Amino acid sequence: MTNYVEENKELSTVNSGENLEEVVDTVETTATTEAVNGGENYILEVEGLKKYFAISKNLLGKPTKFLRAVDDISFKLKPNKTIGVVGESGCGKTTLGRTILKLYESDGGKIVFNGDDITNLKKEQMKKYRTDIQLVFQDPYSSLPPRMTVGNIISEAVRVHKIVPKEQVHDYVMDIMKKCGLQPQYYDRYPHEFSGGQRQRICIARALAVNPKLVICDEPVSALDVSIQAQIINLLKELQNKLGLSYVFISHDLSVVKYITDDILVMYLGNMMETGDTDAIFDEPLHPYTKALFSAVPVPNPEEKAQRIILSGDIPSPANPPRGCKFHTRCSQCMDVCKYIQPSPIEARPNHFVACHLYNEEVMSNLEKYSEEYKQLLIKEEEQRKYEEENGRNKFEKAWIIVKRKVKGIVRKDKSTDATDGSEQVEEDKQTEEKED
Ligand code: SF4
Repeated sequence: MTNYVEENKELSTVNSGENLEEVVDTVETTATTEAVNGGENYILEVEGLKKYFAISKNLLGKPTKFLRAVDDISFKLKPNKTIGVVGESGCGKTTLGRTILKLYESDGGKIVFNGDDITNLKKEQMKKYRTDIQLVFQDPYSSLPPRMTVGNIISEAVRVHKIVPKEQVHDYVMDIMKKCGLQPQYYDRYPHEFSGGQRQRICIARALAVNPKLVICDEPVSALDVSIQAQIINLLKELQNKLGLSYVFISHDLSVVKYITDDILVMYLGNMMETGDTDAIFDEPLHPYTKALFSAVPVPNPEEKAQRIILSGDIPSPANPPRGCKFHTRCSQCMDVCKYIQPSPIEARPNHFVACHLYNEEVMSNLEKYSEEYKQLLIKEEEQRKYEEENGRNKFEKAWIIVKRKVKGIVRKDKSTDATDGSEQVEEDKQTEEKED
């Protein structure tokens, strides 16, 4: 983007009101051409993306336990389209967005942006993509610097990335503000002078000021009341149509997601449960978790009786997720196979993927075999548990006892040499040792 503007200095003579339109139109065309020329029709491709956080370390600082916040997530996003990422709180939606933005380094998988693999790019190399991928935060109150005016907030990145020549920055920012429904007199005001909806508009204007191709919207309306939510959603849609943007829309509000998205990705404990076309998933959700989630969406028809599916139990700890299908502890259709084999995503309908054994023909036709395998596994585990119980200690405890004995042996030797009644102490030590054994 910066290169484009730098190479086309003649744009600086153009009236600033038309400037943004021109830049955006040209960039849009360039982006589309690039994608098509590269043989790719996607603005973003995510393949088996992983992000793990170390939650415990050994004495040498080596991680021993991980929280798998994002575990093997894949999806593709076409230019000018929106994908919704949905799921309960703590399922890894925000971590996914931040990993795509490379605010977190990924621990596996691939991120391809506009045909370029950006997975392993260093901070310096990422600079040229920074303006192309932008983020709109959830909380419009804390995401704006309180000591900067609206004009400065929006123009900061424009100046840093030299989006337009210096003398045009003011007019350019005014134009962006107009597009985002902000009055010109707001330019010199401070964030505390605005309502939540207006602040979110400022956040959107700041993100769009650098002409991004992809915007990651992390719950952009969840902190706003319903009427303001509608305004912001409509604004995002309008800007998408005008500027040819692509969105990754993270939300737990399914009504909003249904309205704004083209595709949906359902997440649970860091894993992908279901993904596909929004209408197809709303019409016929396949995964038991998606069914339960979508059954909570209010139906605007008093005649229609909604069948609410209530999930039993709490969401398990992401630090210690269940074995097999992560949803099996709450699934009403859970089978033995679900308790020890993690389902892989299967294309159950055209372009509609679901990670559930119910849609795997091989598994469903061999349920008895898997049940038998599961029983054998339980027997083995029980034997192992008993063995450990009988033997009492693990190898570290045993090593610790040996060290203690050796130290005691040295102390005992010293005592028996020094003291006259050392035999009594030695006897006492022996008894303690026997007790420990
Ligand atoms: S794999 Fe089994 S436990 Fe998981 S959602 Fe499907 S039926 Fe339920």
